[in-house]
Amino acid sequence: MAAEPPPALAFPRPTAKYWPVGEGAWQIRLPLPWQLVSVNVFLFRRGGDYLLLDTGLRSEESLESLESALTCLNVGWDSIAEVLVSHLHPDHFGAAAEIRRRSGAPVRMPMVEAELVRPLGPGREFFAEAAEFLGTHGVPPSEVATMRARAAAGATGHERLDVDGGLAVGEQIDFDGGTLTAVAAPGHSPAQLCFVWPEARVLFSTDAILPKITPNIGVQWFYQGDPLGDYFGTLDRLWALDVDRVVPSHGRPFRGHREWIDGTRGHHRKRCDSIEAELGDEPIHAYEIAGRIWGEDRTLLDRRFAMSESLSHLHYMAGHGRVARVESNGITRWARA
Ligand SMILES: [Zn+2]
Repeated sequence: MAAEPPPALAFPRPTAKYWPVGEGAWQIRLPLPWQLVSVNVFLFRRGGDYLLLDTGLRSEESLESLESALTCLNVGWDSIAEVLVSHLHPDHFGAAAEIRRRSGAPVRMPMVEAELVRPLGPGREFFAEAAEFLGTHGVPPSEVATMRARAAAGATGHERLDVDGGLAVGEQIDFDGGTLTAVAAPGHSPAQLCFVWPEARVLFSTDAILPKITPNIGVQWFYQGDPLGDYFGTLDRLWALDVDRVVPSHGRPFRGHREWIDGTRGHHRKRCDSIEAELGDEPIHAYEIAGRIWGEDRTLLDRRFAMSESLSHLHYMAGHGRVARVESNGITRWARA
């Protein structure tokens, strides 16, 4: 009898998907095993060499897809002269170590984020600080334990590394089609960068502007402070840019960055109002607030995103005197101000 067919792949099959963005610039789409099905990385020609912006996940499927796109473009690993990384999330940074091994190219990224992806010293565990943070905000211990076990099993899609240098706000990166300028875009991560290409009136918006969805703006154990306030500043900065096309890291290029920004500002203001409306005199923790706003029936990862996103709105409103933060017995709760 014929053998059972193998179970469906979690990933789409590796395929070479790439498009020119303009003179000397290409978008390459790489697969993700998530609800967000793909990430775009970018290739820029500089003389006889190439720059790669972002890397995709550390996975065979993603690396094979990248390699097949590079092959179609007649670019060998040894033609990659430099790898630039917009921010620390695994779909942007995950394969950096492997690409450096294959190409010999140095990897640069914002220094604040480079510190967060360095290899851990002996006895340090990736999830230890995260677990404490989640507990503080009311995530049940059983869920924290599950997330911790997944992290320990290496299911995070990235490989830590010491990068070769920083990538600064305002830095100008020359390539055959002109000059990219790095623009500060914190909010989705502590020091994310976008890149503006004035010659083509293109904004490489990384994860700061995404079509159809709003980027996750969340407080994390490594990003306290006021991510939503940071993000409002980012939106003001990007609104002011004179660009025609937005080329995002997920999804297709689109026009109309100012309309998108106006709509997204409104979305977060409404979200603040609905979170404030859930609060009373009796303090509740962010995990419970997230459950009320986003619903309980979600995956662990979604619930964690929802909690971080609730916190970013709570931190922002606390800074404006709209909500009160109440600390007791190591738990942080929130009440009406
Ligand atoms: Zn991201």
